[in-house]
Amino acid sequence: MRLKDKVAIVTGGSRGIGKGIAQAFAAEGAKVAVVYRGSQQAAEELAASISGKAYQCDVTNLAAVETCVKQIEQELGSIDILVNNAGVIHDDLFVRLEPEQWNVVISTNLGGTYNFCKAIAYPMMRKRAGRIINVSSVAASHVNMGQTNYAASKGAINSFTRALAVELASRGVTVNAIAPGFIETDMSAAVRNKAGDLLKKFIPMKRIGVPEDIAKVAVFLASEESAYITGQVITVDGGLSLGAVAAQ
Ligand code: NAP
Repeated sequence: MRLKDKVAIVTGGSRGIGKGIAQAFAAEGAKVAVVYRGSQQAAEELAASISGKAYQCDVTNLAAVETCVKQIEQELGSIDILVNNAGVIHDDLFVRLEPEQWNVVISTNLGGTYNFCKAIAYPMMRKRAGRIINVSSVAASHVNMGQTNYAASKGAINSFTRALAVELASRGVTVNAIAPGFIETDMSAAVRNKAGDLLKKFIPMKRIGVPEDIAKVAVFLASEESAYITGQVITVDGGLSLGAVAAQ
């Protein structure tokens, strides 16, 4: 077991990629705090199935995040691993994009990452150990129409990851990011339903990813095996970002 007795927080753990990461961490022996916004039943069922605990917390609210982190520390112990996975999309062409669509994406994806790091970085530094894993996207560098807000949030997460890694490296805390391609979750459902098999033409491995594809990399980055890796953005996309269009 690679994460035996480690205490891990997974934001957005109620569904999709976060759920996959929470399950994989628990299978490796971690005690997992499943942080969710509204999906109480899903989060509690998942937490019960992995002997973890569910915590309701809006990642955009720093005061709520600080209270949540304190509660997790009291109930599960000091935090060893933080996965900033909670994220949203609100796509539209830039000229039609309302300030609210901009703000909610930036405050959730980037602001949520800042808030949890703000609450946890110092305790990890004092402990001289810790793993921070931010969930980015290939959309940060391989941009799509209608995603100025999302691309900006994920590009900023990549830069934030590198900059924070430099500050925490000497204290034994690593900070890395995972950039998924298309993964089968609620978030990608609209695109998958619209584009169907066409999507696979752009993926050399010819399949949409599943949460487990991301979770395996998260386990590696959370474990001792990745001790000498920091400030990296690891792409997990079946080759999508290589930019080749498959022959058929
Ligand atoms: P998803 O299925 O839509 O799940 C989103 C998760 O984020 C849910 O657990 C949701 O909680 C939580 N969340 C959203 N806003 C929140 C807030 N304000 N406070 C707390 N939790 C909040 O999405 P997903 O596809 O698994 O995406 C997970 C991460 O992967 C995101 O950062 C996304 O940008 C990234 N990603 C996804 C793909 C993809 O193809 N799916 C590709 C690249 C990157 P509730 O259930 O309570 O609402």
